[in-house]
Amino acid sequence: MKVFEKAPAKINLSLDVLRKREDGYHEVEMVMTMVDLADRIEMQELPRDTIIISSQAGYIPLDEKNLAFQAAKLIKDRYDVKQGVYIHLDKKIPVAAGLAGGSSDAAATLRGLNRLWKLNIPAEELQRLGAELGSDVPFCVTGGTAVARGRGEKLEPIDSPPQCWVVLAKPPINVSTSEIYGKLRAAAIQHHPSTERIVEAIVHKRFDLLCASLGNVLEEVTLDLYPEVRQLKECMIRLGADGVLMSGSGPTVFGLVSKEAKVPRIYNGLRGFCKDVYAVRLLT
Ligand code: ATP
Repeated sequence: MKVFEKAPAKINLSLDVLRKREDGYHEVEMVMTMVDLADRIEMQELPRDTIIISSQAGYIPLDEKNLAFQAAKLIKDRYDVKQGVYIHLDKKIPVAAGLAGGSSDAAATLRGLNRLWKLNIPAEELQRLGAELGSDVPFCVTGGTAVARGRGEKLEPIDSPPQCWVVLAKPPINVSTSEIYGKLRAAAIQHHPSTERIVEAIVHKRFDLLCASLGNVLEEVTLDLYPEVRQLKECMIRLGADGVLMSGSGPTVFGLVSKEAKVPRIYNGLRGFCKDVYAVRLLT
């Protein structure tokens, strides 16, 4: 038997860091949502007790470092599953981009294996398992739009944002999330985004307020380290996107655009800057 799952990319409409915790994690407050750019995960039963990963993408690990492998191993061990699984990852989300591609693959693997092996694990338990794999995985298990607190695992689902176009552009650099968090001085952050305002904009479907309230404290670090990300942001603003922000720890920058007629100019203008450019809709 075979099952398929979509693993969509996430974007941060806001990312705030409240403090560094004693356990080394950062206490965050983020508003996250998903866009219609997704990996496709195929999971097929194997009679042998083994986990095999393959992908058309040449640049991700295919061993126990792969987050989909880790998700499969976790669920197999925890529920004492004796069958094996062959997992194929059709990657569409750029890697190390700030779009949680690996986390979403892990979440989709948890959902898919729950179905394949008929385990009937409730969503909250899948989220708890996901938290063992990474801070963004619990959100990716259920998707939608949510405020995430703690280290990302405490989720409060909220309404969908007003529908719009999302133009995503990733410059040709890879950014390590742990390096960016490592360089952040949480106590010295100058401008914290207002989670309350973002939520208000979403709940009342106020696109202008949403665009004006976007904020990500990690931009302070990434934009200084990688000037091309700053240039990309400026370029997207010049081209006419209504609201522009870096997602996660970067380097992907996204622009929210309400009028479809504006999208081709922004898309084509960015293609002169980098090759990874996507024009997609929010997953609402
Ligand atoms: P986050 O914002 O959650 O840190 P990201 O979008 O910046 O994620 P990913 O695409 O998840 O980054 O990749 C981060 C690292 O994880 C890469 O170094 C990659 O090699 C590794 N990785 C492990 N499994 C996967 C996977 N299934 N897909 C992509 N990358 C993976």
